[in-house]
Amino acid sequence: MTDENITAIGRCYGCKRRFRFDPDTVTMFLVDPETNLPPGMSPLGSRREPTPEALARSVKLPVCPACVERAKRVLEAGTDPRPPEFPVWHRPSS
Ligand SMILES: [Zn+2]
Repeated sequence: MTDENITAIGRCYGCKRRFRFDPDTVTMFLVDPETNLPPGMSPLGSRREPTPEALARSVKLPVCPACVERAKRVLEAGTDPRPPEFPVWHRPSS
């Protein structure tokens, strides 16, 4: 028995950075290693019913907090990414 926090180190599914996480609280993402996408999702982003084989070989990968935040923002904004913002040019007042 130790009083140490149980932490693990893994590679984030989103940004591929290694980070330390608590296995009890970290967000895990189910990924089909054959496509590197969630089971049932095609590379074009469309969804279909995942096959039992895809589910069986899928593994859960940790996602770092920064990527979780980014994913939340994308979900809130809908499926389309926000259009790029262009700087607004102000006519200099003279
Ligand atoms: Zn990440």
